[in-house]
Amino acid sequence: MLLIECPYCGARAQIEFTYGGDATLSRPGDLSAVETKEWLDFVYLRENPRGPHIEWWHHSAGCRRWFKVRRDTLSHEISATGTPDSNLGSGSV
Ligand SMILES: [Zn+2]
Repeated sequence: MLLIECPYCGARAQIEFTYGGDATLSRPGDLSAVETKEWLDFVYLRENPRGPHIEWWHHSAGCRRWFKVRRDTLSHEISATGTPDSNLGSGSV
């Protein structure tokens, strides 16, 4: 069983959480000023990293807050968690 340290509630079982995707992506600017391809890439294209990755997780069966997790995609080891404004690094090797 994977334990995830919610920055608000403490360590809880993974079953209480929902994965929210890559936390390193930044939303493109104004829709009218951005090329369609840039939006398509933002919405549909994702890296499939091997190693440390910064992710969004939602404590859906707890405090219902979003937070960041640095997780190794090979070992599932979680090396850090933090609030949405925290800097957990780039996540890449
Ligand atoms: Zn929580």
